[in-house]
Amino acid sequence: MQFDIITLFPGIFESYLSESILRNAVEKGYIHVRFHNIRDWANDKHLTVDDRPFGGGPGMVMKVDPVVPCVEAVQQMEEDPGHLVLFTPQGRTFNQRIAEELVQEKRILLLCGRYEGFDQRVYDLLRPDEISIGDYVLNGGEVAAMVVLESIMRLIPGVLGDEDSAKVDSFSEGNRLLEEEQYTRPREYRGLSVPEVLLSGNHQEVDKWRMQNRIERTQERRPDLLDQ
Ligand code: SAM
Repeated sequence: MQFDIITLFPGIFESYLSESILRNAVEKGYIHVRFHNIRDWANDKHLTVDDRPFGGGPGMVMKVDPVVPCVEAVQQMEEDPGHLVLFTPQGRTFNQRIAEELVQEKRILLLCGRYEGFDQRVYDLLRPDEISIGDYVLNGGEVAAMVVLESIMRLIPGVLGDEDSAKVDSFSEGNRLLEEEQYTRPREYRGLSVPEVLLSGNHQEVDKWRMQNRIERTQERRPDLLDQ
């Protein structure tokens, strides 16, 4: 799967992509990630990418030019222009359903904002899929791009060592409940024991306990998921 990240700060992603599962996914060719610096499309001698808002007000706005020509050039780099995601706190709120939807794409462009966000004409001309990662405001779209990239790549078959891992995760397509409590060795720690049933070797009873535990946890923590 091809990811094209469009940002003013490509350096933010360096260590993120060079560790752990993401590094493996890149090295094994499950994902290809390219970076495009919006500033490279600035056409004045100061390489300006932002300006003061018309009508006054605080902060700076990302200019329509160079953002639009930059995105168009990236889209044209391949026959498939890809699915364009633009990060904004005003977009649809990202969740596992959207990750499952986006993993169907062959190519995704992730457009990261900074400052007070983009000139409205960026939205009007590019008609992007506007995505928010939650009701709070970040300095820029880079962290949002990492969140979206990581949750999508986990769903690519082969990326996780264990094929079933993503299928039983909380919120996943096959689960829709929160995952159950997890235990590993030791059997007892500071007086707290692992539930007997998990040590019984009786797979039917273990499955029954896990399902019951998922339902109880979901009821307690996220009853809204059961309504869905
Ligand atoms: N003034 C904008 C507003 O109130 O809607 C917020 C701009 S924010 C400081 C700068 C950039 O960070 C945004 O253009 C967006 O790309 C990114 N960003 C901030 N919060 C985000 C969120 N919750 N989800 C996705 N992107 C976010």
